[in-house]
Amino acid sequence: MTSAHILGFPRIGAHRELKFAQEAYWHGEVTESTLRDTGSDLRARHWALQQQAGLDYVSVGDFAWYDQVLTTLALFGALPARFGFSGADLSLADYFVAARGNAQHHAMEMTKWFDTNYHYLVPEWTAETRFDGGVDWLFDELAEAQALGHAAKVTLIGPLSLLYLGKVKNGLAHPLDLLHKLLPAYQKVLARLQQAGVEWLQIDEPILALDLDAQWLKAFLPAYTALATSAPKLLLATYFEAVQDRAALLHSLPVAAVHLDLVRAPQQLECLLANWPQERILSAGVIDGRNIWRADLSALLAQLQGAHQQLGARLWIASSCSLLHVPVDLANETALDQESKNWLAFASQKLAEIVALKQALNGNGAAVAEQFKAADLAVQSRRNSSRIHNPAVKKRLASIAEQDAQRHSVFAERILKQQQRFQLPLFPTTSIGSFPQTKAIRQARAAYKRGQFGHLAYLDAMRAEIRLVVERQEQLGIDVLVHGEPERNDMVEYFGEQLWGYGFTLNGWVQSYGSRCVKPPFIYGDVYRPEAMTVAWSQYAQSLTDKPMKGMLTGPVTMLQWAFVRDDQPRATTALQIALALRDEVADLEKAGIGMIQIDEPAFREGLPLKRKDWASYLDWAVRAFKLSSAGVNDDTQIHTHMCYAEFNDILPWIAAMDADVITIETSRSDMELLDGFGDFAYPNDIGPGVYDIHSPRVPRVSEMQRLLQKARSVIPDKRLWVNPDCGLKTRDWPETAAALENMVRAAKLLRAAVAEEREHIDCC
Ligand code: GLN
Ligand code: ZN
Repeated sequence: MTSAHILGFPRIGAHRELKFAQEAYWHGEVTESTLRDTGSDLRARHWALQQQAGLDYVSVGDFAWYDQVLTTLALFGALPARFGFSGADLSLADYFVAARGNAQHHAMEMTKWFDTNYHYLVPEWTAETRFDGGVDWLFDELAEAQALGHAAKVTLIGPLSLLYLGKVKNGLAHPLDLLHKLLPAYQKVLARLQQAGVEWLQIDEPILALDLDAQWLKAFLPAYTALATSAPKLLLATYFEAVQDRAALLHSLPVAAVHLDLVRAPQQLECLLANWPQERILSAGVIDGRNIWRADLSALLAQLQGAHQQLGARLWIASSCSLLHVPVDLANETALDQESKNWLAFASQKLAEIVALKQALNGNGAAVAEQFKAADLAVQSRRNSSRIHNPAVKKRLASIAEQDAQRHSVFAERILKQQQRFQLPLFPTTSIGSFPQTKAIRQARAAYKRGQFGHLAYLDAMRAEIRLVVERQEQLGIDVLVHGEPERNDMVEYFGEQLWGYGFTLNGWVQSYGSRCVKPPFIYGDVYRPEAMTVAWSQYAQSLTDKPMKGMLTGPVTMLQWAFVRDDQPRATTALQIALALRDEVADLEKAGIGMIQIDEPAFREGLPLKRKDWASYLDWAVRAFKLSSAGVNDDTQIHTHMCYAEFNDILPWIAAMDADVITIETSRSDMELLDGFGDFAYPNDIGPGVYDIHSPRVPRVSEMQRLLQKARSVIPDKRLWVNPDCGLKTRDWPETAAALENMVRAAKLLRAAVAEEREHIDCC
C-alpha cells in the first residue's frame, strides 16, 4: 500500500502562538516552562492533525524554538565557540542568545533558506568546531510523539547540507574538512533514534538541487555509507529543484527512499524512474509546499499512474517540501469570499489532499470521490472565473512592442536634459522613501481601516504628516525630497490592495525568521489597475516645495516576489501584467508634474533561480518587467530604483540593463565593498551607494560618511555619485533620523567644497 507523509509542518501555530510565547518569554513576561508548554501543545496539535488526516507518519524534528539549523547545531553541540556555551547543558536562554545576540555577543548571521523567504542562522565553522554532542530536545520530542501513540518519522538536516550552509571562519580551509568529525556525531544520533524504535529518518539534503562542485558531490557516497550502518531506514529528501542530473549518484546511495520535488520539477520523474533501484521507495512530492493553491487532484493522480504501475507500494505521496512555507489553516480565513477561498489550500488542507491521492492510488477511490469532485470544480472555477481572467489585460499584454520597454534616448542624452531641468548640485542628497512611522501614524491608519476614522480626517492626518516631512527635509537642506510614505503599511500590500487580481488573508502567516512572520498576499488573477494609486499623495507633497519630489512605487518583481503567485501562468506573465499597471501609474505621475519617479526593487536579486543555467531567462523577464513599467516617460523625467540586502556583483550587467537613471543601493554595512563591482563593470548611470546603515539607531558621524564617500569616489565618477542612506527610514525614530540626515547633508556639502577646491587647484596650477 502506498503511504502518505509530509516533510514538515509549520511550527508557529495557526494563531502564531509560538511567536507570542517566544516574545513574552524574551520580555520576561512568562517563564521558560510556559514557553515549553506552548511548544509541546503546538507539537501535539500538529501531530494530531497529521494523524487524523490519515498520514502514515507524523513529522518529528520539524519543531524549532527559533530556527531549524540552529536546533540542529544544538543537537550536535556545535554552536559557535565564541558564545562559550556548553554543548550538553545548553539552556533555552543560551540558545536565544545565539539567535538574537545580547550585550556581550553579536547574534549569529542570518540568511535566506535557499530561494524561500525563511531565514536560517548561519553555522560558523572553524578548525576548532566540535560536534561532541548537545541537547536531547529531539529525543524528548520523539518520546512525546511516541507517548501520544504516533508513528514518528524523524526529520534531520543532512550532514552535507549542514556543512554547506555554514560559513568558514578563522583557520578552516573548507567546510568539508569538518566532515570526519561530524559523521561520528550523526552516527551516534542515528543509532540512538534506531534504539528508540524510529523506523524512518528523513534526512534532508536540499543542496543536491544546487550547482555543486565535484568535491561536494564526491562526499555523498562515503558519508551515506557511513551513516547507513546502524540507523533507521533513511529517506533522503531533495527539494526546491530537479536532481535528475545527479541520477547516478542518487541511485548509488545506500538509502531506502528518495524524495523528489515534483511540483518545482515534475519533468525529473520520468528520467529518474528509468533506472530506479530495486527495492527503493520514491516519495513523490506532488502537493505544493511553497504555494497556497488547492491541488488539481485528478491531474496529479493521472501524473502518478506510471510511477504507481512501476513501483506499487514503493510509491509514497508527500508534500513537495516542508509545509513551513505556507500558512497553517484556511479555516481561519473568515473574511475571504467563498469563491476565492475555494481555490486555496493551506497546510492543514494539504494534509487531506495528500491522503486523498494515497487513497485513490490504493484503490479506495470511492472513499475520496467527493474530495476529487470538489477539487475538479475548484479547478474549473479558476479556469473560468471572470475575476481571474480579464481579456483587456491579456490583450494589452499580447500587444506590447519592443520599444515599449525602451526609453526614447540613451542615458547620456537623458541625463543632460534632466540636469537642465533639475539643476542639482554635485553629489545630490536624497533618501529612500519612508520616514519614521510614528505610533500616531500607525494608529491613524489602523483606525481608518477599521472604519473608526472618517475619510477626510484620515486625509488630513496624512497630509499633516507629509507637510511635516517636507518641512524637515527642507530645513535639513536635502536636494531631492520624498513624501515619507505615511499612508503605507507595507510596500506590497499598499499597492496590492488597490490592484485587481491581488487577494489578502486575515491569518495567512508564514514564519520568516524566529518570531517574525509575514502575511504575503496572493495573486489570483490578471493584474489590473482600476485607478491611480499614489498620484494624489505625490502631487500634494510636490505642491509644498520647489525642490523635486520623488514619486514612489514598488516594482513589478518585488510585487511578485513577496506574494504567493499564480500557478496557472508563468511568473513572467504575472510580472509583466504588474509592470503594465505600474506603467500607467508612472504615466499618471508624470502627467501630474512629478519629475522623478522611484520604482523600488529590493527583491530583484532574491528572485534569482537556484541554478545558474536558469538565471538568464529570469533576468531577461525581470529586467523587461522593470523597463516596461518605467520606460514610457519623457527623457527629462528621471527614473530611480532602489535595491537592498544583496550581492549585486554577479548580476551587474542586468542591473545596468534596467537602465534606471539613478540607482540607490545598500552598501554601508559592507563598507562600500559592494561597490567595487560597480566600478570594475563601469556601471554607466547615476548611483547612490548608501552612506549609513538604517538598521541601527546609531547616528553616524560626518567623518564616517565622508570616508565612505571618498571610497565611493574611487569607483564612481563624481558627476554620477548621489548621497543617501541605505534604505527607508520607517523603522527609525525622529531624533536619530534628523541627526543622521543632518550629518549626511554636511558630509555632502564638505565633499562639494573639497572638490571645488581640488578643481580650482587644478585650474590654477
Ligand atoms: N521606499 C521604501 C522605503 O523607503 C523602500 C523599502 C525597501 O527597500 N525595502 O521604505
Ligand atoms: Zn531598501
